[in-house]
Amino acid sequence: MESNFGIYIHIPFCKQKCFYCDFPSFAGRERLIDSYLAELSREMELTALKYGQDGKMAPYTVYIGGGTPSLLDTAQLARLFSAANEHIRFDQVAEFTIEANPGTLTKDKLRLMKASGVNRISIGVQSFDDNCLKKIGRIHRAGDAIECIKLAQSLGFYNISLDLMYGLPGQNMDTLKQSIEQAIALQVQHISVYGLQLEDGTVFARQQAMGKLQLPTDELVENMYDYIAATLPAGGYNRYEISNYALSGYESKHNSLYWQDVPYLGFGAGAHAYWQVNRYENPTNIDAYMAMVRRGEILSNIEEKVDEKAHMEEFCFLGLRMTKGIDKEKFRETFNKDIYAVFGDGIKEMLDKGFLQEKDGALSLTTIGMKYGNIVFGAFITGE
Ligand code: SF4
Repeated sequence: MESNFGIYIHIPFCKQKCFYCDFPSFAGRERLIDSYLAELSREMELTALKYGQDGKMAPYTVYIGGGTPSLLDTAQLARLFSAANEHIRFDQVAEFTIEANPGTLTKDKLRLMKASGVNRISIGVQSFDDNCLKKIGRIHRAGDAIECIKLAQSLGFYNISLDLMYGLPGQNMDTLKQSIEQAIALQVQHISVYGLQLEDGTVFARQQAMGKLQLPTDELVENMYDYIAATLPAGGYNRYEISNYALSGYESKHNSLYWQDVPYLGFGAGAHAYWQVNRYENPTNIDAYMAMVRRGEILSNIEEKVDEKAHMEEFCFLGLRMTKGIDKEKFRETFNKDIYAVFGDGIKEMLDKGFLQEKDGALSLTTIGMKYGNIVFGAFITGE
């Protein structure tokens, strides 16, 4: 098994579906949790037997995401951790993250997480404004989020990440500023900030189609973006990826693997894997996923066979997401080609426009380029 890889474990259960969410997550299916955990364990076991060493996988990072992993009760969480321990060697794991949502996290669950080796918690806050939280369908209120962050800190978690959003219905510059200031005041180590995207199949997409969704104007959203991009670095949070900011040394190791073309395995419904240069996707439907594992199938559903052309494009798209950019030497080592020989025209155009910069052997987005990332990504399509 490759030594440098990540493991993602998906828990697709949520108390309620947020209005913007198109992730593989389901409300009202909690009765499936116990059988789901059994199949998750089986999927890890089969994978470890096939690709592991001595029947165990030895990754660099482990990330339990969702959905809402903290919706599991303590006994279910204990089963999840014990299954992970059975099939994963944790001695080389540098970062073990779990996602949690306010309103589902308790002292007992946090204690169990800590005792099970979790060293990073990622909390879905989205906003510290109650009106906004209600309008996006979150189950918690701002006070719950503050309480659960402080509780985690009091129990010895020193690597906490918050997710925030901007461009939300009911959000204005004042409430956005208050959320960013509150996040900084809580002294968390990592902050991810995502702009609202209207995704098909969501409550928001339906409201939009009926003309019932009131969003901030494009100008206001742009001002919010500029405020975030200026304020978080001024508060000590380095922007190391388009949407991610961290105190020095607290950049997410797991997510950085995704952006650096490193393989990862994914377990659970809707989980993705990037393994031996192919991309795989498990069925999103929980029943279909469990049936797949019962048939003994793992890494069976190829989402994309990554040929060299697609690999070069993805290598660049992902590299550009990080402020350190695309490592030109690593490109040469990976593909045995100079990046200018493949994307030279597009690179020159983006350099001329001031969207791209070249320094320290890397090509990276400028501040303005980050804002218009999609235009720059378009320059890294081979077009053959
Ligand atoms: S808690 Fe997260 S995964 Fe669950 S519905 Fe809301 S946004 Fe989606």
